Amino acid sequence: MTNYTKILICILTFMLICSGFPVLSHAETIQSSSEKAIVLSKNEELVPVLKEETANSGILTSIPNQSEVYVLHTGTSYTYISFTDPLTDEELTGYIQNSLISAPETAAPDSTDTKTAMLLNKEPLDSALEETRTPDETASSETKTKSKSLAAEQQTESEVTAEHEKVPSSSESETIKAPAPTMRGLVVQDSTDVYAQAEDNADVLKSYPEGSILKYASFNNDWYICKIYVSGAATTAFIKKDDVETLDSEQTNLTGIATNTLAVYSKATTNSKTLKSYAQGSVLKYRTFASGWYEATVYSSGAAVTGYIRTKDVENRVTPQESLNGVAPTKISVYAKASTSSKKLKSYASGTTLKYKTFASEWYEATVYISGVATKGYIKKSDMEEKGTTYYVYGAASLNIRTGAGTSYSIVTAVKKGQAVTLFETKGNWGRIETSSGITGWASLSYLTKTKPSQGLENRVIVIDAGHGGKDPGAYYIEKNLTLQTAKQLQTLLKKAGAKVIMTRSTDTYLTLAQRVVVSHNNKADAFVSLHYNSSSSSSAKGIETFYWATNVNEKTLAQYVQGEVVKQTGLSNRGVRTGNFHVIRENKKPAILIELGFLSNATERKKVSTETYQYKSAIGIYKGLEKYFD
Ligand SMILES: [Zn+2]
Repeated sequence: MTNYTKILICILTFMLICSGFPVLSHAETIQSSSEKAIVLSKNEELVPVLKEETANSGILTSIPNQSEVYVLHTGTSYTYISFTDPLTDEELTGYIQNSLISAPETAAPDSTDTKTAMLLNKEPLDSALEETRTPDETASSETKTKSKSLAAEQQTESEVTAEHEKVPSSSESETIKAPAPTMRGLVVQDSTDVYAQAEDNADVLKSYPEGSILKYASFNNDWYICKIYVSGAATTAFIKKDDVETLDSEQTNLTGIATNTLAVYSKATTNSKTLKSYAQGSVLKYRTFASGWYEATVYSSGAAVTGYIRTKDVENRVTPQESLNGVAPTKISVYAKASTSSKKLKSYASGTTLKYKTFASEWYEATVYISGVATKGYIKKSDMEEKGTTYYVYGAASLNIRTGAGTSYSIVTAVKKGQAVTLFETKGNWGRIETSSGITGWASLSYLTKTKPSQGLENRVIVIDAGHGGKDPGAYYIEKNLTLQTAKQLQTLLKKAGAKVIMTRSTDTYLTLAQRVVVSHNNKADAFVSLHYNSSSSSSAKGIETFYWATNVNEKTLAQYVQGEVVKQTGLSNRGVRTGNFHVIRENKKPAILIELGFLSNATERKKVSTETYQYKSAIGIYKGLEKYFD
């Protein structure tokens, strides 16, 4: 009970430092008198402690019959006492009727060395003190009284007396000294008895109610050994191992949600005082304690107090939390707590992409900004999952659906190319989807596309001709680089769609125009696309133009589709489609086009077309044109 010790020391220090503090006189009384007494009631298990010295005073609290208290002052009808509140471990003062309290007795001299020691003596299982033994008559009779009272149901008067007669002499009992405690345990049943010997039929020295925390060390297979104080005398005692739940020495910090209205109790028992209540959905921090209980720190009247919550009243946050993205299927709200009846921090329109983290079985956690301040909020999982967005499988014959976001997860099913899936949320390059047959899992986003893919490009042979190269740099000495970069972007897109892509060059090499045409013929190209960037003596010339070679009607159509889509994607001016007397299309027996993707001689356009973004957009345009052509 180190907390208890700390609290006491704090209280003492506070009392000594603050001369204006009204309890100072009591502290002085404790120091000078050091008298203790036992609360005695013939009929009641609990004895009221009054706030004031009058019959109609309010009740401060009630303490169990047989509790040890310190007598601070004895009046005509009431005794002013200090005691440890058994429910809160707080040091309190109040008044008890004189008829309900034993005559004060002076504590054993050994335990009155210091004021701290005096107060600590009242703590039943505290081990901070050196063991002080006072096997005098007072202590023995005290033991007898307690045994009689607490074990009354199990033992007859004569048995208690007989047992008392067998109480060992001081020399005998000193043969076993309790070692320093190494464990803490919780009383999880109605009460736990502490025995004089490690035997089932031994005298019960004290009984501790549910929720009490006891300190002890191991003694043998069935018993723990501890030190308790009986009338200020340290006494070795024993606890049955089955009568307490030993607590883990290391506590783990946790965060979770109150699944119902949640009470924080002063002790790990629902019989104890409720320190504070929290609404369902409140997000709380606490730490591991016992099998049925967590420990928490709550603030009561501005002071940090240790309390206890039932493990079944909270749902722990998932670990590790995973970051997700999702599109709001409808207007959705971010709540202050994990409860739809809590305050709405912010709402988002349908279609808004949101970032959030996994949190609990029914809730996500999100960070929202309220007046510029990052605030944690909660999104109801089902709000995000009502409907997803339709995506299509492309770029592979079939797509594996896995149990998690990664290739290390096992495969649940596979979806064929072109089939629709519903995408709910994404994590990195993975998306959580549902197949048309209702199976859910995770799929790589590289193989999902929002637009319904055409099957037309599949197995088509497309020859991509990156203009210039090697010793022929093209316009402005950069054309050969731009055409190759664009060609590679286009290659990636077409491959994903299942096309067989042939590059006339993949590096900075020189090819003659005739060699390029040979590649088209040898591979029986279904389409040949030559990429160029333009130049003109007029620095104001700008835009896109696509060339084809006359006679082949299909070729003109191909040129028109590609030209139209590239203009649409890049936003550059449309210079239209024309026949062009260029070797690579003129000599080509296969459908062949040559596209000029903007003017390097125009400073503004040169800057624009040199960007990776532009090359990607133009590649998408060519891809879409080809897709349309083959559909
Ligand atoms: Zn060129």
